[in-house]
Amino acid sequence: MSEKMQYIPIAKPWMGEPEAEAARRAIMSGWVTQGPEVAAFEQEFAAYVGAKSACAVSNCTTALHLALLAVGVQPGDEVITVSHSYIATANSIRYCGATPVFVDIEPQTYNINPMLIEDVISDHTRAILVVHQMGMPCNLKAILEIAHRYNLPVIEDAACAIGSEILWDGNWEKIGKPHGDIACFSFHPRKVITTGDGGMLTTNNPEWDKQFRLWRQHGMSVPDTVRHGAKQVIFDSYPMLGYNYRMTDIQAAVGREQIKRLPEIVERRRYLAQQYHEKLADVPGLKLPTQPNWTRSNWQSFCVRLTEKYDQVQVMQRMLDAGIATRRGIMCAHRESAYQSEPWSCGVKPKACECEARKCDRLSESEQAQDGSILLPLFHHMTQQEQDYVVKVLKMACQA
Ligand SMILES: *Cc1c(COP(=O)(O)O)cnc(C)c1O
Repeated sequence: MSEKMQYIPIAKPWMGEPEAEAARRAIMSGWVTQGPEVAAFEQEFAAYVGAKSACAVSNCTTALHLALLAVGVQPGDEVITVSHSYIATANSIRYCGATPVFVDIEPQTYNINPMLIEDVISDHTRAILVVHQMGMPCNLKAILEIAHRYNLPVIEDAACAIGSEILWDGNWEKIGKPHGDIACFSFHPRKVITTGDGGMLTTNNPEWDKQFRLWRQHGMSVPDTVRHGAKQVIFDSYPMLGYNYRMTDIQAAVGREQIKRLPEIVERRRYLAQQYHEKLADVPGLKLPTQPNWTRSNWQSFCVRLTEKYDQVQVMQRMLDAGIATRRGIMCAHRESAYQSEPWSCGVKPKACECEARKCDRLSESEQAQDGSILLPLFHHMTQQEQDYVVKVLKMACQA
């Protein structure tokens, strides 16, 4: 090969001295979990997305669990969502003892198809859990219209969507305001900003926010901060079953630095996505992601669709041989063994779905998206030269 062998990862967080210094600040302060840094991070995050409140937790999966509990999801309930998502989305429904009811996606945006929702609403439906897949806002206007008609709460899995925007009554608003009832975010390194692991819940409902704060700390009646500052002896009590879903102050201190970088990160990702769009526009049989004109994605992932004439694994292998990491399209939970003998449904009546675990006719767009697309490298410090190399290798891989 004429070019010097290089390795281009799929993603790489942008972190440095400010984050290291922030972690040091938390460590040296002597208060290392759920203290002042967490409180400050929550305020800064809420201000960024425009929410009344934000509650930090250990990751987005635990955030989703608490969001579902808050809106009253119980064993025996059904929650409408997508199979075509990271498995955490569907798993969080199962943690509540409820059944995920999977709806197919729109192939252009990889998001839930609002036209299919009404069809699967039943007497058992308790909530709708939508995903802003790969940072692309889903069609919240259409979804909320249905949800309001059936009086169903909407939870947004915004794990990938920090910094993404949606046109709302003529204004660009951040995902997480929230437009549904509760939005849940992730700070895993594969997302746009990171705290190692971490999650956030935003809501405008003060009762739910209060509830999240109790649940994340075993339902403890007296927060550590209050007990610590008390001049008199106070005992805590545990009036309800809770969890340990705390975020540490070390993570939150890092998150506060990451959120400062966020506008620059989002701008850079949008630029790189634009470049991909321009440079890959003329590859025959390659479909590029569509951004509806009422959305502005943060491009957490850049997903390209291969038409039938290409073999997904072969294209990925060729790119890997050239030192470029890619990933296959987003997974489908219903095709995993963890869902094989477990209850889930695609809405076919009677309630028990008769579909095979690997294949469901009503989820064919989801399955095709998983089998026919690949995610390309995209990260803040990706150079023009690196991106040109990805484009060149992808074009060659698609030719052969
Ligand atoms: C990453 C991801 C999650 C899980 O986030 P964690 O913080 O790792 O728990 C949930 N939903 C979606 C759509 C994701 O991409």
